[in-house]
Amino acid sequence: MSQKYADIIIDISHEGVDRTFEYKIPETLADRVQVGSVVKVPFGQGNRTRQGYVIGVKETSEWDPDKLKNILEINEKAVEVEGNLIRLAEWMRETYGGTMIASLRTVMPVKEKVAGRKAKIDVMDEVPEFAPVGELTREQAEVVSTFESDYDRGIRDKYLLHGITGSGKTEVYIRLAEKVIAGGSSVIVLVPEIALTYQTVARFRTVFGNRISVLNSRLSKGEKFREFERARSGETDIIIGPRSALFAPFEKLGLIIIDEEHDGSYKSETTPKYHAREVAFERARIEGASVVLGSATPSIVSFYMAEKGDIRRLTLKSRASGGELAEVTVVDMRDELHQGNRSIISGELYRRLKDAFEAGEQAMLFINRRGYNSFVSCRECGEVIRCPRCDVSLSLHGNAKLMCHYCGHTEAMPSVCPKCKSKLIGGYGTGTEKVEAEVKKLFPGIRTLRMDKDTTQRKDSHGKIIDAFRRHEADCLIGTQMIVKGHDFGNVTVVGAVLADLGLFDSDYESAERTFDLLTQAAGRAGRAEKKGYVVIQTYQPEHYSIITASQQDFEGFYQYEMAYRRMLRFPPVYELLGVLVASKDEAAAAELSEQLSDELKSRYAGHGVDIIGPAEAVIYRIDEVYRRTIYIKSDSVDKLSEITGYIQNRTLELSDIEVQTDLNPLRIV
Ligand code: ADP
Ligand code: ZN
Ligand code: ZN
Repeated sequence: MSQKYADIIIDISHEGVDRTFEYKIPETLADRVQVGSVVKVPFGQGNRTRQGYVIGVKETSEWDPDKLKNILEINEKAVEVEGNLIRLAEWMRETYGGTMIASLRTVMPVKEKVAGRKAKIDVMDEVPEFAPVGELTREQAEVVSTFESDYDRGIRDKYLLHGITGSGKTEVYIRLAEKVIAGGSSVIVLVPEIALTYQTVARFRTVFGNRISVLNSRLSKGEKFREFERARSGETDIIIGPRSALFAPFEKLGLIIIDEEHDGSYKSETTPKYHAREVAFERARIEGASVVLGSATPSIVSFYMAEKGDIRRLTLKSRASGGELAEVTVVDMRDELHQGNRSIISGELYRRLKDAFEAGEQAMLFINRRGYNSFVSCRECGEVIRCPRCDVSLSLHGNAKLMCHYCGHTEAMPSVCPKCKSKLIGGYGTGTEKVEAEVKKLFPGIRTLRMDKDTTQRKDSHGKIIDAFRRHEADCLIGTQMIVKGHDFGNVTVVGAVLADLGLFDSDYESAERTFDLLTQAAGRAGRAEKKGYVVIQTYQPEHYSIITASQQDFEGFYQYEMAYRRMLRFPPVYELLGVLVASKDEAAAAELSEQLSDELKSRYAGHGVDIIGPAEAVIYRIDEVYRRTIYIKSDSVDKLSEITGYIQNRTLELSDIEVQTDLNPLRIV
């Protein structure tokens, strides 16, 4: 038998994650040592025996085999949590590309000096207690008992909890978590941005007290490490947090819950570009845990898996508190214009707001994106002011500052057109600031709060704005889509989507899905208590299927339309998609490499169930003076795409001054 070698890291929790050591695998252990194995090795001066983790096994070594030491023994009983996480990292590297170190750094928080003082009090430390809910509804009880009886019989499965807004999914999660914890296992709960899912977190904290860790994405590395240590030592049974909470080192994991599973924040934007749902499935498989995905608007991907029978579907069709869904009106903004209304608030929305404010009720208005359309242009010559470093227009902030949302470049608003010197230069459009100004003009005396990236720069500003609104210190909350997620405000009776179709102009294949999700979730914010809710959707595309089905809160209708489109264009989830981005400051080098790469891929893979599209310029060709080209690869086999990822990785490993990134099933075409 040929000699095999292992890459080993000695102390996983230190910076040493960067450094691996090579050892020989003795023949007696050859078929047992694998990635993730816990082994004993001689290490350092005097060859003290230390514990190490195998992160790679290979047939060759660059070192002189005589100088390498042997692994002493394998600790087979130690199904150590680190071993499992290393196996997970290995799977991530294979699936998403990138280096093993990058994957390890994702799954293992590195120990850093934790400041002695207590971390600054976050608003989440002061969340009010929420009164226990009482008895489950019949629907909730059915879902819980389905899970419980599976769990008791040792069945670990994947579930999709599809429950309309207000159906009481949080209560179900809590019961499932209690069940699993009572059986001696631990629970991970993922939520989108923690500050935006305030109430969910507050409910969990009320029930689990000091047995729960709340992982805020803004915690320092040291603070996060400390929370992970609490999980490892058994001090906590449950952790709630964003994507990275997925890697909490619980020794005995029983359940991973992903709330609002359709949310875009579950996809990592940095290498490895993993999706929390996929990684959760894999971690659960390795460790024998169940996964529960929950949403009022499941992702097309999850629903498709449920239809194929890969995920078990559980449904909540009615509101837990008995309230009715809001009444939704779609307003065609082209008609408004014909009728002489030039305001960004339609007649219908105006009347609803007026009624609500007069009754002492509150309203929420949102647009799809910060600074949309707030570009500056010249009415004389049409010149648009653009970023000098990127292929995008600059956005107007306040009335004196122009800013690039891609590279952060700022400049002063010019007083005359830089091209023709006309004074008729200005910002047009409907940013959140503009909506706020309009509301103040239409309803003098109404108190407004604005929530967008500009007003939430500070650590706990989200929570403060939400709190102030909850205490009715303002009548109208205006913001980007971030105001729509998950909040439950009893006094809000009107929700207005000031411009609903912005997302539909995006170049990406998920834009209809996001528009549907956003509008359906938004509609769920109105009239959550006893009061009837009204939702006004303002759009220039009232005939679009995502708008029609959202206004009817018809998820399955939307799903049918959307799947027809995905099938036709061969997009996920019907096909798997691999995005390849080639980026360089050297424009010619990026062009040349992307051509070469595409040719190579075509000659190696095209035809065998693989389509290769491109290269093409990225949608935004230049960002911060870096030129970007893309290649897209479609296949019905995810393994084929992993193989291609590996090929690209090896092919481009040694390149400098040019970056090649792969992204499996990207959420958007870049
Ligand atoms: P979802 O997450 O499904 O949108 P929530 O979990 O936020 O819904 O629940 C909506 C509201 O219904 C909350 O105010 C919650 O306290 C209440 N609720 C949940 N379950 C019950 C129940 N069994 N009986 C009465 N009210 C409930
Ligand atoms: Zn001009
Ligand atoms: Zn820029």
